[in-house]
Amino acid sequence: MPRIVFDEERCKGCGLCIDACPQGIVVLAEHLNRQGFHPATVKERERCQGCALCAVMCPDMVIEVTKGDGDGKSINEG
Ligand code: SF4
Ligand code: SF4
Repeated sequence: MPRIVFDEERCKGCGLCIDACPQGIVVLAEHLNRQGFHPATVKERERCQGCALCAVMCPDMVIEVTKGDGDGKSINEG
């Protein structure tokens, strides 16, 4: 399974990653980050395809997607 990590303190809650996800599994969290924004997160991680479209779309490079085969290689080079 791909691994997806959000640097949530850098997220401004713009929602571009939500629109980009073909699986519809990116959502804004209910809590606020230190900047006062609802940060993006993933629900139903098991449905993530590892396409990294969310990461590519993020203007602030908040998201890193890595392959789940253990080599730790970043898919989106972020
Ligand atoms: S890597 Fe693809 S499937 Fe997974 S959360 Fe991002 S956009 Fe959605
Ligand atoms: S695109 Fe980036 S900054 Fe915008 S909500 Fe998603 S993770 Fe946050």
